[in-house]
Amino acid sequence: MHCPFCQHEDTRVIDSRLSEDGSTVRRRRECPACGERFNTFETAEVRLPAVIKSDDRREAFDERKLRTGFERALQKRPVGPEAIDAAVRAVIHALRQGGEREVPARQVGERVMDELKKLDQVAYVRFASVYRRFEDVQAFREEIERLERDLPAIEGLQLPLLEGRAGPAPGGAGATRGGRGGRRA
Ligand SMILES: [Zn+2]
Repeated sequence: MHCPFCQHEDTRVIDSRLSEDGSTVRRRRECPACGERFNTFETAEVRLPAVIKSDDRREAFDERKLRTGFERALQKRPVGPEAIDAAVRAVIHALRQGGEREVPARQVGERVMDELKKLDQVAYVRFASVYRRFEDVQAFREEIERLERDLPAIEGLQLPLLEGRAGPAPGGAGATRGGRGGRRA
């Protein structure tokens, strides 16, 4: 790389060091023309895409928010923290693989729903009911009906979200870690 001091076209690496956590390589370089030394840092480019909100604002991807979304949907469902971790990783992996710099929030939500569908149908319905509430009530109704047909165990289950209100507001207080067992949902 060029020397930042004299713009000489080539510089020499005189030392190379891996950071403690293994995520960064620091190189000490020297310019053969002016003799100045400087450092460069090399890190893998695996940043997550920014999230485009529905009002068009951009927001940095927030893994904690993603986890909270899963935890809320899975509250009091028999799904352990390891399974939630795996689902969070799966969503992140999918987003990284997409290679986009920005993704619509909606797309993140769809990924979450894909994972919830595999984990727990009730949690999936909870999430979908909040997530899709402005968009297609009809599609949601159909999904519930389909679930009731496919999964008789859901029948009669009180889905509090069907009555209305629970907003998606992620990241707020009150996210509890899903306990196991107990069918008080
Ligand atoms: Zn130089």
